[in-house]
Amino acid sequence: MDKVDITIIGGGIVGLAIAKELSEKYPNKDIVVLEKHESYGEETSSRNSEVVHSGIYYTPGSLKAKFCVLGKKMLWDICEKNNILFRKLGKLIVATNQEEIKQLDELFDRGRKNGVEDLEIIGVKGIRDLEPNIKALAALYSPGTGVIDSHSIMKYFYQKAKDSGVMFCFGSEVTGIRKEDWGYRIDCRDRSLTCPCIKSRVVINAAGLWADKIAAMVGIDIEKSGYKLYYLKGEYFSYSSTCPLVNGLVYPTPQKGNKSLGIHTLVDPGGSIKFGPNAYPVDEIDYNVVAEHRSAFHQSIITYLPDVKLEDLSPDQSGIRPKLAIFDGVEPDFIIIEEKEKGFPGFINLIGIESPGLTSVPAISKFVSDLF
Ligand SMILES: Cc1cc2nc3c(=O)[nH]c(=O)nc-3n(C[C@H](O)[C@H](O)[C@H](O)COP(=O)(O)OP(=O)(O)OC[C@H]3O[C@@H](n4cnc5c(N)ncnc54)[C@H](O)[C@@H]3O)c2cc1C
Repeated sequence: MDKVDITIIGGGIVGLAIAKELSEKYPNKDIVVLEKHESYGEETSSRNSEVVHSGIYYTPGSLKAKFCVLGKKMLWDICEKNNILFRKLGKLIVATNQEEIKQLDELFDRGRKNGVEDLEIIGVKGIRDLEPNIKALAALYSPGTGVIDSHSIMKYFYQKAKDSGVMFCFGSEVTGIRKEDWGYRIDCRDRSLTCPCIKSRVVINAAGLWADKIAAMVGIDIEKSGYKLYYLKGEYFSYSSTCPLVNGLVYPTPQKGNKSLGIHTLVDPGGSIKFGPNAYPVDEIDYNVVAEHRSAFHQSIITYLPDVKLEDLSPDQSGIRPKLAIFDGVEPDFIIIEEKEKGFPGFINLIGIESPGLTSVPAISKFVSDLF
């Protein structure tokens, strides 16, 4: 049985960034990443909008707000220095009625409280100058929002971690974890049999949609701790027309009580346009896009882009959000915690890392390394 210092469960963007951070900070520690797929980034990290958010929506003082604002700056810096494809396209959150205009003011204030300095509320003329095809009464303009190539950024974290000596065990699904005197025993269903069983001083749970199940494996009561996840699926439809549509990112005003930001219009780093994601709960991980949802997408998009036709929409991809339940009316935040108070020192849980997880990732990995 191998004995290592640190085991990271999950080779999504969060696990990869933590592996890079820790291997550079602690070059003499043995670090292993266990990933059930044959490669990294096959789940949520490659099934998202690839938007680097500016930090407007999140509750001031929350980890989401802090990590988003910090992570955005760190990500842009990494992209610039390492030739990773990104585009600071700017984003409009558009209001189509008086009620939504009031909400834009609230979002503006919230964004300013979170440290987003470059926001501006613009009227019809300002919107027309930026996005001639948009029909809206007012908009919150965020010039610092943009998109990145999520695969390239994952490749960057993976390569850096590998160069610093991290061992990646792909095809290794964690099936059991037990606390022992020395640390933790981790059992795997391992196709290559490179890591069937590991003893690790520290365990970092970055298992995304399965993070609550990993926490339960070690003996944490996930119901009582508020760690239980539910799945909220989000589908995308691509824009298949050749008519020019938008120059940057366009979001509706988030509807109160909605669990997502609303169906937005995205331009990916390569310049292709897509719409999404919608949001509905699912019991199983199934990434099929339901073609019948096209009409509902269309209805939602034409509220601010009236020229888009139903036949311009083709099913694209989908992703699934690892959602924590709203507790006592409070919006759930990222859970990032070393579980010593529950009797599991050296066991670090990252649970509910939904959006803006991609944007926040450099800040999350720094925070985790500071927990040591
Ligand atoms: C529809 C959608 C849109 C989004 N848009 C944005 C956006 O525009 N901007 C933004 O900032 N964020 C966005 N996000 C959020 C972002 O994608 C996530 O926060 C981020 O990808 C989470 O990464 P992760 O590494 O935690 O999870 P994952 O990528 O899911 O990685 C977890 C890994 O753990 C592995 N694993 C699980 N269980 C085991 C096990 N038992 N043994 C071994 N390995 C295991 C999985 O195979 C997986 O590879 C979006 C998310 C969704 C769903």
